[in-house]
Amino acid sequence: MSRILIVEDEAHLARGLEFNLAAEGHSTVTAADAETALDLLLRQSQEFDLVVLDVMLPGKDGFAVAAELREACNFVPILMLTARGRPEDVLRGFAAGADDYLAKPFELSILLARLGGLLRRREWARQSLTSEPQSAARDRSGEQFGLYSFQGRTIDFGNQELRAGETTIHLTVMESELLRHLVHNRGRVVSRKSILEEVWGLREDTDTRAIDNFIVRLRRYLEDNPARPKHLRTVRGVGYRFDNDDD
Ligand code: CA
Repeated sequence: MSRILIVEDEAHLARGLEFNLAAEGHSTVTAADAETALDLLLRQSQEFDLVVLDVMLPGKDGFAVAAELREACNFVPILMLTARGRPEDVLRGFAAGADDYLAKPFELSILLARLGGLLRRREWARQSLTSEPQSAARDRSGEQFGLYSFQGRTIDFGNQELRAGETTIHLTVMESELLRHLVHNRGRVVSRKSILEEVWGLREDTDTRAIDNFIVRLRRYLEDNPARPKHLRTVRGVGYRFDNDDD
């Protein structure tokens, strides 16, 4: 069972989410505005496994909530609810620190699939952290102890961090998992379709531009010059390839 915070001002939508998440065995808390949500998460330090965050809220919007949480080093997974037909919302959502998004109105089954994907990944990250010594013994390819190092940078998948010199960048669940998928397949082309299926856990026809937005963010973290990527390369018409010159 997971504890989920629903941030939604439209009472009938919030009640529908509460009902359906309870039917899936989760417990929920609902906040009808940004300040209530931030109070629960930051000032009361309440623990949640996931936040369903509507963009359109009275007063402060969902982008501001996500940005404040990340600034405060709160990395709870965020599924952002955006308005259909506003791709700029998706970009802003990722920039603010959302892990995934869903356009309103949405199919309940899709919402549950996205939630399930984010919750599973959080659990995997925790397990990989506790089972590190065994996996390190098996893995001699540079991914020891849930760490992967290349060109002066270290990705710490267990802690969802990227370290470069004195700088530590926190990764969201989805950033960390996408990076893990690319690193695991390094030197090989990874298609957008495989990213959708294996990282997002989705089979339906999702807009692959969401992946491109993640790649743009990851390049900012990984590349000396994000405009001329050396590690996270685009393979035109197919997908992406992670290259490590140390390999
Ligand atoms: Ca709303």
